[in-house]
Amino acid sequence: MESLSALQNKNGTAPKNPLCEFCDDLGWVVKREGSTRCKCLIQKIKIRNIGEEFADVKLYHIKPKNETQTKIKAIMLKNPYGSYYIYGDLNMGKTHFLSALYNKALDDGYIDTTRFTKDKIFKKHITEWNFDREKYCPINYELFENREIKWLFWDDVGKSDMSSFFRQEIYAIIDLFRSNPNTFRLVMTSTFSLDELASPDYLGSSTIRRIEDLCEIIRLK
Ligand SMILES: [Zn+2]
Repeated sequence: MESLSALQNKNGTAPKNPLCEFCDDLGWVVKREGSTRCKCLIQKIKIRNIGEEFADVKLYHIKPKNETQTKIKAIMLKNPYGSYYIYGDLNMGKTHFLSALYNKALDDGYIDTTRFTKDKIFKKHITEWNFDREKYCPINYELFENREIKWLFWDDVGKSDMSSFFRQEIYAIIDLFRSNPNTFRLVMTSTFSLDELASPDYLGSSTIRRIEDLCEIIRLK
């Protein structure tokens, strides 16, 4: 096979990234039993949302640094489809555990029904939906209510300020989750404890109580 630099020299210009050998970059692979998403598309979604660094993290690859992490890994291996609230200081592995669960969800085929968000993006989607219903809105209450989204990954909770409108929307979504714990899955990470997020300026205690009911609370240290 010719090397990339040889190709570059022959054409005079740098070639584009080679097309995916399975789907020609269309994102779909056509099989007799129907079309399926190509792995390259799943990889692109992972990289866009959690970044290249975490796109290949798998639960069984995680090397626990201490007893707590060993325990958490065991809990998650046993129940990778569980709901979790993961909190702790920076660099304690929150994103690793979240990424492992997120990657598994996508690898298992839950692409359309899984959403990843961070505070700021979440707020933007919800606000856009409220003020301009014509806009494409990847995350809003209605999509959960219609079961179009069933799995929410909410990373780094507590980073942005909270408007009362956003707070109400989050409450409605979490309340729906709590009432249908077998349908919905929620994975959150934060540097804050739930007690801290329960402040009336932030999520408020009724939302926090529902998160406590729904999620296994995990403190990384
Ligand atoms: Zn492909």
